[in-house]
Amino acid sequence: MLDVRKIRLTLELRESGISDTHVLSAIEKTPREIFIPDNFRNQAYENIALSIGDNQTISQPYIVALMTQSLELQKKHKVLEIGTGSGYQSSILSLLARRVYTIERIKSLHVKAETNFKELKLTNIVTKHADGNLGWKEQIPFDRIIFTAAINKISNNFFDHIADNGIIVAPIVSSSKQILKKFTKKNDAILTEVLAEVLFVPNLKGVIN
Ligand code: SAH
Repeated sequence: MLDVRKIRLTLELRESGISDTHVLSAIEKTPREIFIPDNFRNQAYENIALSIGDNQTISQPYIVALMTQSLELQKKHKVLEIGTGSGYQSSILSLLARRVYTIERIKSLHVKAETNFKELKLTNIVTKHADGNLGWKEQIPFDRIIFTAAINKISNNFFDHIADNGIIVAPIVSSSKQILKKFTKKNDAILTEVLAEVLFVPNLKGVIN
């Protein structure tokens, strides 16, 4: 039954413009149900965001796919994610990149995500319980950075964190809306593209133990 739902979801993503076969196959390989609390598991393959507790959500599969596709990942890439949440997005990234560094500010979610990575035997994900806005200085430079909580502005530090041709994808708050944007660093200039209107939880400062 789950397989039928999974195939239906992949078809829906294709129809919505997700054409990167590597991204679609990473989504097909990843059991979304393990990232979701028991009471919502039957909805794991619906194309919707779901609650994961602590007032946080696992993103809608279409948005995960769109963000992943926009990162134009290669197997050699080192990726930084700000906002581990359930760990679903990190797991998808881990199948397409060399290593994923992911930061979560809420301790309980950080711990749960680590358990999920172990269960799926994803050994190329490195986690940290911290305020992601401080970055991960020891691991600079990154090839790609993904923000999975909405921010007002990307601090210049993050543009210094990526190599030339590096890409950052992030939901940016713009008056009362959130716009998913893609930033590409080219010869020290930053190219900006608008991807979609989105709805993410806010990026907040500090940590919760
Ligand atoms: N990528 C996630 C979506 C998580 S929702 C998934 O696939 O499930 C966004 C997450 O970002 C939340 O868990 C929230 O606690 C976290 N977050 C918000 N601000 C943060 C910050 N400054 N540093 C690290 N994590 C942050």
